[in-house]
Amino acid sequence: YKAKERGNQVVFYSSTLNGISVRKMELENGLRKAIEKNQLQLFYQPQVSLATGQIVGAEALIRWQHPDHGFIPPCEFIPLAEETGLIVPIGKWILIEACKQKKAWEQNGISGFPIAVNVSVRQFEDEQFIEHVAEVLEETGLESGHLELEITESITQNLELSSKTLKQLKDMGVILAIDDFGTGYSSLSYLKHLPIDKIKIDKSFVDDIRQATTYRSMVKTIIDMGLNLDFTVIAEGIETEEQLRFLQKNDCHIGQGYYFSKPLPAEQVKELLLKGNGKLVDL
Ligand code: C2E
Ligand code: MG
Ligand code: MG
Ligand code: MG
Repeated sequence: YKAKERGNQVVFYSSTLNGISVRKMELENGLRKAIEKNQLQLFYQPQVSLATGQIVGAEALIRWQHPDHGFIPPCEFIPLAEETGLIVPIGKWILIEACKQKKAWEQNGISGFPIAVNVSVRQFEDEQFIEHVAEVLEETGLESGHLELEITESITQNLELSSKTLKQLKDMGVILAIDDFGTGYSSLSYLKHLPIDKIKIDKSFVDDIRQATTYRSMVKTIIDMGLNLDFTVIAEGIETEEQLRFLQKNDCHIGQGYYFSKPLPAEQVKELLLKGNGKLVDL
């Protein structure tokens, strides 16, 4: 009881100290050691063809199991990792892990789809990023066409650098996807001038499918424009049959969301991939 009371006091006192919260400092220190302490893990969420129900991709999503704070969601520590620059070494670790995992699946006879890895802006803009990607592909022996990088529209704020980096990645053969599409500043026609292969419609638009018709037409417009510009179109955060049917009806190519599967540990994804020849659902 006493310890807890004292604990509360410490938190209360320190959280006002220079405006820096103890939790944030703890997280930062913890994050520095998280890799070596084996606390970081990648989960994988299947991506499903809306035409066939087949698994056509998997997105790697990071998980941090902290010994004292328990599970810490990426939305809490990825921004911190960006702020401190720790995202560069962590991002490289993520890339290695995901490529290794993908290669392991291939060695189990599971192939034919890319592994998608999230790349944050700071990591993307790091001068060693291209080198890191090349190194990781070389070291893991993964074919570049089996790696997909997800970046957000915010990279277009530094357009000169971004187009150069995107072009280098494209020349290497890596697949490029724009994540959370629709939440940023860029327009679809603008992205046409960049070597982008896919757009991922942000979950917030997919959520709107449940609502009034005016909102629904926005999703339809994004899909139509994406199709016209020859992008592969993915919808994220599909949770209901209603959303699925709407997206199918409007020719969206790929879906990802709890309706199909939550992000899972690699072993469980392997089972899904082996079961029914990788067909996840009957559509
Ligand atoms: P994101 O890349 O847009 O990933 C999609 C997020 O939506 C994931 O959350 C996923 O678990 C969640 N999600 C997928 N389907 C559904 C659904 O049907 N319903 C709901 N409610 N949520 C769904 P998560 O794993 O918490 O990741 C959040 C964000 O953190 C990611 O958004 C991404 O921006 C970032 N992140 C995650 N892993 C990494 C990583 O390895 N590297 C980097 N740089 N960022 C990462
Ligand atoms: Mg993503
Ligand atoms: Mg997203
Ligand atoms: Mg997101």
